[in-house]
Order: sequence, then C-alpha cells, then structure tokens
Amino acid sequence: MTKQATPPPPHDRPAPTAPPPPPAWRHWLWPMAILLALGLWFALPQTRGGGAAPTDLTYSQFLSDVDAGRISTVSIEGSNGRSSGRFTDGSDYTTVIPVQLAGPALLDRLAAKHVAVTATAPSSSPSVGVQILDWVLILGPFLLIIWFWRRLSRGASGQMQGALGVSKARARVFDTERPQTTFEDVAGYEGAKEEIAEVVDFLRHPDRYRRAGATAPRGVLMVGPPGTGKTLLARAVAGEAEVPFLSVVGSGFVEMFVGVGAARVRDLFAEARKRAPAIVFVDEVDALGGRRAAPGAIGGNDEREQTLNQLLSEMDGFEPTTGIVVLAATNRPEVLDPALLRPGRFDRQIVIPLPTLAERRAILTRHCLGKRLDLDVDLERVARATPGFSGADLANLANEAAITAARADRDTLTATDFDQARDRILLGRREGSNVLLPAEKRAVAVHEAGHALVAALQPQADPVAKVTILPAGQALGATEQLPLVERHLHGEDYLRQTLSVQLAGRAAELTALGQGSTGAANDLARATELAGRMIREFGLSPALGPVGYPHPGPAFLPGSGGLPGGAGRPYAESTQALIDGEVSRLLREAEQQAVDLLATHRGSLDRLVELLLEDETVDGSAVYDILGLPRPEQDQAPGATVAPHPRAASGG
Ligand code: ADP
Ligand code: ZN
Ligand code: MG
Repeated sequence: MTKQATPPPPHDRPAPTAPPPPPAWRHWLWPMAILLALGLWFALPQTRGGGAAPTDLTYSQFLSDVDAGRISTVSIEGSNGRSSGRFTDGSDYTTVIPVQLAGPALLDRLAAKHVAVTATAPSSSPSVGVQILDWVLILGPFLLIIWFWRRLSRGASGQMQGALGVSKARARVFDTERPQTTFEDVAGYEGAKEEIAEVVDFLRHPDRYRRAGATAPRGVLMVGPPGTGKTLLARAVAGEAEVPFLSVVGSGFVEMFVGVGAARVRDLFAEARKRAPAIVFVDEVDALGGRRAAPGAIGGNDEREQTLNQLLSEMDGFEPTTGIVVLAATNRPEVLDPALLRPGRFDRQIVIPLPTLAERRAILTRHCLGKRLDLDVDLERVARATPGFSGADLANLANEAAITAARADRDTLTATDFDQARDRILLGRREGSNVLLPAEKRAVAVHEAGHALVAALQPQADPVAKVTILPAGQALGATEQLPLVERHLHGEDYLRQTLSVQLAGRAAELTALGQGSTGAANDLARATELAGRMIREFGLSPALGPVGYPHPGPAFLPGSGGLPGGAGRPYAESTQALIDGEVSRLLREAEQQAVDLLATHRGSLDRLVELLLEDETVDGSAVYDILGLPRPEQDQAPGATVAPHPRAASGG
C-alpha cells in the first residue's frame, strides 16, 4: 500500500538556512569613513593645544596692545615671524610679526613695556603625545570600519565573493568534536549497532587490521527515514571509538561557485588525515551525491558534480589503514549516484527503519529517564499508540508531555499528558510524515493482510516472509514475499497468481471495509503493466493468439515507448482494443480469484488484521499458522538456490 500524494521526502533536519545577506548600507561605510576622517583633520588644528582658542591679532593691534601694556609675554618664531604669547589678563593670542620689522626698534619697544620675549626655533611641533592622539583620531574610524566590514563578510562568507574580489573564501563548513555519545544513548536498533560495531573496532585498533592484512570498511551509508537516529548513531560510533568526529551537511559543500565545494572536501579530508583515526560524517549525502547528469545533458550541475568527484577520489585516495571511516546518512538512497555505492566507497549500507513497537518502548524509556512518571503511565501503551513515530518524534513526545505537566505546575507526568502530547504531534506532524491515524492504520492492516493471505493461499505464489504496517518511505505497509528459488522462467499460473496477489490488497479492502481506497493505486499500476506484458509480449491470450510485440527498449522521449496508444504502436487500432479487453479480463479474473479466496477465509483475514494492529510486524510463519497451512519449506525444491535478495518481491 502506498501513499496517494507524493510529497518530497522531508529532509533530516531543516536545510541550514543561508546566512543573512550583508545589509545594503554596508556599502556606505567607506564613504562615511572618509568623510569622518576629513572632518576630523580639519577640526583638529583648532583643538590642538587645548584651552580656549587664542585671539588672532593683526600686527598693528599687537603694537597698540603692547603700547597699552596689555601684553605680558611674546614668543617669536625665528624665520617666519609667527608669534604667540599671553595678555596680562592671562588669555592667549597669536599674531605674525613681519620679519623686516622685527628689529632692535621693536625689541626696545617691547622692553619698555616689560614684555618677556622668547625666541623659538622654527617648526615648533606639538608634543609626541598630541601627535599620537592625532593619528589615532584620524586612523581610528578606518580601523573600526575595517573590523566591522570583516565581521559582516564572515557572516556571509561565500555569498559576497566578488563584492570585494574575495574569491573562494574557504570558510570551514565542518565541525570537529569528540562526542560523548555511546551506544547506550541509542535505544533499540541492536542489529544496526552490531553491524556498525565493526567500524568501532577498526577505529580502536587500526594496526590490528593492518597486521592481519584485512581491509576495513571505508564508508558506511545509513539509510532511513528522518529522525530515526542516524546522526545519533554516527556520533555514538565516534564516542565508542573515542575518535574525533568531523561532521558536515551535504548541502554545506555545494556552493554557487564551481570548485568551492571540491576545495572544501579536500580541506575536510586533509583535516581528517591529520587527526586520524577519525570519523568523517556526511549528513544528507543525497544533497551532493545525487545522480550525476549524463554527459551533455542540459541542466547538469557542474559544481555538485565536481564536489562529488572530489569526494569519490578522496575516498579512493586514502590508504585503507589510515584509520578514516566515512559515515554518511540519507533518507533518499534512490537518488544517490551509483558510483558512491561501489566497493571501496559506501559499500556497506545499514538500513535504519522506523522503530518497531519494542524499540519505540525502549526509546520512550530512554527519553523518560530523569522525568518523574505517574503510576498510571504505561510506556508500553504509549508505544502501542504511536505507530509510525520516529525516534525524534518520540523524544519530542516525551518532552511535550513534560511541558504539559510543567504548564500545570506538576512535576510528575501523567498518562493524560502523554495522550495530549501524542495528539498534538499527530496533528502537527502528519504533513509529509509517516504518522498514521487509527482508521488509516486499520485500512493499511486490512490491505496488507489481503496481500499476505492470498500469497499464502496460492501454491505457485512466492511464500510470505513478512507483513508489516510500519511505513517505510512512500509505502504505508508492505508484504514481503521470498521466492523459494531464483526463478529464471515463470509459468502462466505463477503470473496469474502474482496478479491476484497484487490485487488482493484492494480485494481485502472491498471485502472487509466495503470500499476501495487510494492505497491500491501502485498495486493496480503494477498489475496492469504485468497483465499488459502477458498479453502483448508473452502470447498468453487465446484471443490474440501467439503474437508478441516486444517492449521497444528505452524510449527516446519518456513515456512514449511501447505504451498502448503510443505513436510507435506496431499493431492496428482494432488489435489495441482487443489487447485492452484482454488485459481487463485478466485483471478481473485475478481480482475475482482474490476476492473468492478472502471471502472463504474471512475469519483468517480478520484474525490477521487484529494481529497486525497488535504487533505491526508479523512473520510469514504466523500467516500460515492462522490459515492452518504448513509453511513452504526450502527443501521442497531440492538443489535450488535461495534467492539472494530478501527484498526481491514485495506485495506492496
Ligand atoms: P536522523 O539523523 O536519523 O534524522 P537524529 O539522529 O537526528 O535522526 O535523531 C534525532 C533525535 O531523535 C535524537 O537526537 C534523539 O533524541 C532521538 N532519537 C532518535 N532515535 C533514537 C534512539 N534510537 N534512541 C534514543 N533517541 C533517539
Ligand atoms: Zn498493496
Ligand atoms: Mg540527521
């Protein structure tokens, strides 16, 4: 069963918001600084020397003042006659004495009035202190502005390149730390922890691996929906191994300018090599590890490709014994470039699914440590009521419950607090998340139970391995079928039974709920495609006879190739009508088969639905138990190889 709408998968965490662009008034800073400095320059001569401004006298005024006995001192500068002095009332004056006139006559005149005369050498300069003050006052604004400018630019590193010709500013985009997180902090996910424990061991004893000539893991890709604790697990690996943790968000590499991201990748790995053994963690690797465009394609992203290529060559470049392990996380593995997944790169993948009931309980317990719970709080019940919640949702739930209690001024959390918190998160988080309403959960259980029962009831269909109503990606639930043997040839009975298994989800909805739903859209599309190939390509229609119109390979234009009604159709209009009729007949027959089977085993259907609602994930053997059938065994097909991929066929 799949979701109807296909919203873009939400990112792990909100994409880091770009730093705010520098304010526009920044560009006025320089002119302002210059004006200010000029202003100060002109203002300074007046302030120099301090005290009240001296009176400016003309030479004749000076003479008359001398004669009137109002001058007490005068100091004459040697060559240019600039003079200053003090009146008898204590205030200062300046004047210029014409050099030609500064002869003995003037001196006599001054002496007669008892004026103290000093002669100074020219270029009398203000004291050193005053000079320094001048310079500080003039340069100060410039220094201030420069400091201010740099602060602003740092906030907008990368974006303002070019504004001042600062190209390729290499801001560090990664954080280095030594996390204290341990596996204890990650509740549940024992399988994932076991898988990744190998990395911890390698980081602790890289030389042991080197001596044994073993190649240690280089890259581990963690795949799972947002909030399932991928980042947490990566930090726990670093914490357990007691090594530095260099983390970066994939989108942090990708810049507007080609080459910047690649330079950053180089920096990151240079730093990691310096600190080895170390963990490099690339969060949201899909932001840079998306499929590279085909050569010559329009709209390729040069910068991202260069960054990705650099990452790949860095991963190839370091010696396996260096002690650097690259961990990466993504919630969209399907968009990753296949080159990233090749051996020697992220060759190990750890799937981190949404937590199961037991894991949800463990996570809740973990996040209720240090919170006082009322006696009526049953975390098992809370876990049961929160299918589809991720670890982050559950952490949030525990916190919301505590907030509710705090608002009511209580220090113990009650069951009602948890209920209210859950409802709030349910309402708030449904958009774009996997959280299901109870009625939806029931519909998903009915749908998947239908797939599972019909698969188990038909002898040729692949046996049921697992049924789950835990959402994963776009799928709201899934029925996994494991073929007993790897088949190279499919008989008509197998194909027909596969069709009825595919249609059984919808059949169960019709049987048990009285109406279909949007959840069957994907099933219907797949069944219709299979039925179409049975008729057109495999010659399985008596009405059409032994003809085959093979699927014309990859289409030039998406959606045009081989589709009924397409322009390149190799058969007549009337044949198309015949094919359509036959496809619809096959599908109807398959659906009838499923409906009949489910109607006869109505009791089993209801029991399986209840079991699914209770446990969420049900093992295939439980399905056969409910039906009272023996579970198909491998040895029924002697000498057969077991199917290599567990996810081979899924009833969706
Ligand atoms: P992801 O990187 O997968 O999106 P995070 O690692 O950022 O998820 O998880 C977000 C938060 O959810 C964590 O900080 C932690 O509080 C909580 N959380 C998620 N999974 C677990 C878990 N298994 N045990 C305890 N807490 C968890
Ligand atoms: Zn389905
Ligand atoms: Mg994360």
